[in-house]
Amino acid sequence: MTNLFPALRSSLTLDERVTILTEGAKYDVSCSSSGSARRGVRGGLGDCAPAGICHSFTPDGRCISLLKILMSNDCLYNCKYCANRREADLPRATLTPREICEITVGFYRRNYIEGLFLSSAVFASPNETMERLTETVILLRTEYNFHGYVHLKAIPGCDPQLLDLAARYADRMSENIELPSSAGLKMLAPQKTKEAILAPMERLATIAQASLPQRGRAKILPAGQTTQMIVGATPDTDGTILRLTEGLYRHYRLKRVYYSAYVPVGNPSLLPVKPPDLLRENRLYQADWLLRFYGFTAEELLPTDKNFDRAVDPKCDWALRHPEVFPLEINTAPYEMLLRVPGIGVKSAWRIARARETATLRYEDLQKMKVVLRRAAHFITCDGKYNGCGENRAILRSYLTAPAFGASEEGQMTLTEAANTLVEAKRSALTGEL
Ligand code: SF4
Repeated sequence: MTNLFPALRSSLTLDERVTILTEGAKYDVSCSSSGSARRGVRGGLGDCAPAGICHSFTPDGRCISLLKILMSNDCLYNCKYCANRREADLPRATLTPREICEITVGFYRRNYIEGLFLSSAVFASPNETMERLTETVILLRTEYNFHGYVHLKAIPGCDPQLLDLAARYADRMSENIELPSSAGLKMLAPQKTKEAILAPMERLATIAQASLPQRGRAKILPAGQTTQMIVGATPDTDGTILRLTEGLYRHYRLKRVYYSAYVPVGNPSLLPVKPPDLLRENRLYQADWLLRFYGFTAEELLPTDKNFDRAVDPKCDWALRHPEVFPLEINTAPYEMLLRVPGIGVKSAWRIARARETATLRYEDLQKMKVVLRRAAHFITCDGKYNGCGENRAILRSYLTAPAFGASEEGQMTLTEAANTLVEAKRSALTGEL
């Protein structure tokens, strides 16, 4: 096993190694993370750290806390964007499979966590690294009788049989696509190739599909597989990222693609000095929801060489580019067209489709169904009546543009409007309703 800092590593206590390895895991967003840092206060209960515990969602929608940790940060590879790359000067640590099991079960018994998200740097060959990860999950399941949720990282380049074995014990696995293009990989992660990253995805998709029972959940990887992509480390456009995302969902049946705005912790000579703004990440997540639940294709949403408009969300942007489609009569429009109306989410479209079977809908009914009329009104008629701002695209665009969206006549949001906009943005981020 490669060891760049043998003296330091051997002298570290278990606590110190756990601190290093939870810190090292925090940049991986292929499971959701709290991301907050807050100190405990005297007389208060608890504190919050960006590393260590993250949250994920089970297939039945429950939010669970996971111990998020690396087995090792002692990497053989030198991916330029990564804090744990070989050339980085930082303390290195490794945990044994048994140590990880003890920590996981100890935390579980103390009610800190309900599961484990285990990743690792490639501290030995891909095969040896994957073997140790697999050994950990097998130990947890068989010797420690742990039935909690386990998300395990797949190491690109490892033996496919190891993946088959790991997939029998893990709930979810992920392998990070890392960068949106082969050119980006060549420049920033020359030890990785697109083929080596996609091969485990293909393998896992095949065995999970083969294990699907007639009804119910797959026996292998019941929570499926995910990936993460770094945004903003290379010049790749949102259009390119979205095409790749669409391909990943189609070909490998991924549960989620996570986007991670590049954090400047890598080699500064090859990378942008500043991270991309978080709005870019947000727009990609919005478009991702549109691909998965709203019937849009990547091609419809954005040309390959373009980035998303910062001012309006991707659904509004599409609606503004397609005036010939609107306004739609809410009482007669097909369900799949309702989904294309800004301000009508999946749930409200479904409610509309059900309710109009028995009655003609009016604007008051839409409000009760949680349709965001401030957006939707410009694109619909309701029982023949139109309450929007007309066909002038420039005016319409100004109505939909944040942060003026929801502004009063003076251009300033009132407190109530600001609060409503915030609530709406939060709701949209959680539910994907657009
Ligand atoms: S393989 Fe690359 S991305 Fe993964 S830990 Fe090593 S340097 Fe970082």
